[in-house]
Amino acid sequence: MHAARNISLCTKDCLCLFVCPTGATDTETGQIDFDRCLDGCRLCVDACPSHALYLVMDNYPEPKRKSAQIAKALQVLMESKSAQETVASSLALEAGTDARKLLAKAFAYSNRILSEDCGREAGFMLPQSAVVRDFLVGLLDQPFDEAFPADAVRELLELI
Ligand code: SF4
Ligand code: SF4
Repeated sequence: MHAARNISLCTKDCLCLFVCPTGATDTETGQIDFDRCLDGCRLCVDACPSHALYLVMDNYPEPKRKSAQIAKALQVLMESKSAQETVASSLALEAGTDARKLLAKAFAYSNRILSEDCGREAGFMLPQSAVVRDFLVGLLDQPFDEAFPADAVRELLELI
């Protein structure tokens, strides 16, 4: 296990810098230095007043396989929720009352969460799983424009 930092919660320059026995928390990038982090000693996690630090596993167990029928149903639901998010996001951009915009934003957010849940349940959110590898390979196999982060996808493939 290694520690990781949610930089948006971190209030900077406080307790983890003092409790870490290896200096792994004290980096220029704000991220934890994995090479120096001991195997989940969690001193920093317990010390952080902002709950900005957490432990991540080095290896994740393979997810239990869903049947093809269930995976397909989850995929259909995920795509439907994703489409609803797109519609709600565009409604939120249109002129209207503040209440309407807020409602559309909330609806978009709610659909995104549901869509992510479906993806996770279908086995697409766990790194190191065959389904994620196939998904990444599939992304590189289809035509993409220059905005597509192909190098990041290749890098991910080397890691899993
Ligand atoms: S888990 Fe331990 S070694 Fe790793 S960064 Fe936190 S305090 Fe340092
Ligand atoms: S203890 Fe928490 S809030 Fe303080 S510097 Fe470390 S990560 Fe940031």
